Amino acid sequence: MKPAFSICVYCGSRPGLSPEFTDVATQVGTWIGKHGGQLVYGGGKGGLMGIVAEAALKAGAHVVGVMPKALVEKEWANNDCSELHIVETMHDRKRMMAERADAFLALPGGIGTFEELFEVWTWRQLGYHDKPIGILNVGGYYDELLRFLNQSVEQQFMGDWQMKLIEADDNPTCLLEGLVQGAGLTAAPRLELI
Ligand code: AMP
Repeated sequence: MKPAFSICVYCGSRPGLSPEFTDVATQVGTWIGKHGGQLVYGGGKGGLMGIVAEAALKAGAHVVGVMPKALVEKEWANNDCSELHIVETMHDRKRMMAERADAFLALPGGIGTFEELFEVWTWRQLGYHDKPIGILNVGGYYDELLRFLNQSVEQQFMGDWQMKLIEADDNPTCLLEGLVQGAGLTAAPRLELI
């Protein structure tokens, strides 16, 4: 059966310091699975990435992992994925992840997560896609970044409209519902779970 929606999650290959981060990663994966969705992600088994994927699989989601072969050689691939695509380059990976998603969601993470978030945001501002983008600001993790970005608007390097292309929230359920609706799709609890 075709998934009701597909969310691409960007997040840390490490778990982070606070248990809030791992808890929210479990909530996100579980929500996607329980609402008949598909998770697209980097295909790793470590950190928040592995936690989101494990929770999603457990809740019945179709999980698509996309990994460049250089990372597979480091044995970082999660062989539990429903589909694991091994691609040549990082660029191929990011293209496939973006194509397979209806919306994007960044959880706490490091430089890899930031790069992926900023790339899909840039692509959106240029009109390469019109898929919704969310930032899960759990535990205030992204407060400083959001403050800095608003300062870029004040300093006139960005327009307010660019900030409006992303949705930041600390509540995973509200954010996920908004992303699915924003993509023109419906997230309904799977019938067998009611
Ligand atoms: P980071 O936030 O620096 O931990 O990087 C995480 C993001 O970059 C993820 O969303 C992945 O797509 C990619 N990435 C970085 N490290 C790995 C890894 N060890 N395995 C899989 N993907 C990774």
